[in-house]
Amino acid sequence: MVIWSPFMQSFKKKYPWVQLAGHAGKILIVYKSYFVCDLSILTVLASNVIAGESIKHSFFFQHPGNFQPGEEGCILKRYVEREANCLKGLAADMTLRNFAPRFHGIVDNNGEKYTQMEDLLLPFDSPSLMDCKMGIRYVAVLTKAKVKPQLRHDMYVKMTEISPDEPTKEERAQNAVTPRYMQWREQVSSTSNLGFRIEGIKKGDKDPSKDYKLTKTKEQVVSAFKYFINNNVDVLEKYIERLIDMRVALEGSTFFHQHEVIGSSLLFVHDSTGLAKVWMIDFGKTSRLPDGQTLDHRSEWKEGNREDGYLFGMDNMINIMHEI
Ligand code: ATP
Ligand code: MG
Ligand code: MG
Repeated sequence: MVIWSPFMQSFKKKYPWVQLAGHAGKILIVYKSYFVCDLSILTVLASNVIAGESIKHSFFFQHPGNFQPGEEGCILKRYVEREANCLKGLAADMTLRNFAPRFHGIVDNNGEKYTQMEDLLLPFDSPSLMDCKMGIRYVAVLTKAKVKPQLRHDMYVKMTEISPDEPTKEERAQNAVTPRYMQWREQVSSTSNLGFRIEGIKKGDKDPSKDYKLTKTKEQVVSAFKYFINNNVDVLEKYIERLIDMRVALEGSTFFHQHEVIGSSLLFVHDSTGLAKVWMIDFGKTSRLPDGQTLDHRSEWKEGNREDGYLFGMDNMINIMHEI
């Protein structure tokens, strides 16, 4: 679910903080003390699970989401050990540190642990944003899935929202899918062919859009990129330049080659003053490889080699932007 301003940020100036992807604050329903879902799927629930039953068995509560305002110029993201370790590692890498939010420690906020990091939106005025998820796969999830394919109702709901006809008869009956959903998302988006996919775009003061789940072909990506940059060649050139610098930094970074980067994004931000930047964000599924193992981030994935296709995706992205 998209919310674009979970809170107002105030440091030097006051601005609505924008969250394009990820878990946003929402109202959750607990049904008969065992069933939890969010309000957006109440209609699905009504037609399936609790048909005919009274809603009196349910109660509602507010889930705060993953992000909170932090100290001056910072945001807090719900703590995940891998992400905090990765941000620490990036901060110690003298070239890569310029391409990721700065790490500002682990803090306690109302009894919950958070990672504090630089708010990348601070220098911008009414920014336009694009979140692109990098890489060719989600194998971290699939490996677990192989051991015990868990049935997921939330994934079933997401699948029917994107493509109502996709679930099989069996999946419909159990009102849930296995994590085959993740593989399916790779196939219907540009993840599998281009090594990245667009998660969401927000232009200036307009509402954000996450209608890119079926954006797969190069032509579809080109038209989304064009929409995002508003045909502003100056902004496009700045993005390309920054991506090329980032790629050089990544290729030369020992830290990067020692990590498997899954589910991470590039966050593109520009505004009407012509300021345009790209950063690496979201390291909750990034893990350090065993000593001695490295990835080139371009080779094809084979069972066990842990290649993630991060640079394959970046190569395609830069080429596509060049062509525009
Ligand atoms: P998911 O894993 O579902 O993609 P998540 O909960 O791990 O989501 P992120 O992807 O890290 O969350 O961030 C979600 C959104 O929040 C991003 O798309 C971006 O809009 C915003 N965001 C994240 N980190 C920062 C940051 N350091 N500065 C500014 N905005 C940020
Ligand atoms: Mg993300
Ligand atoms: Mg994440």
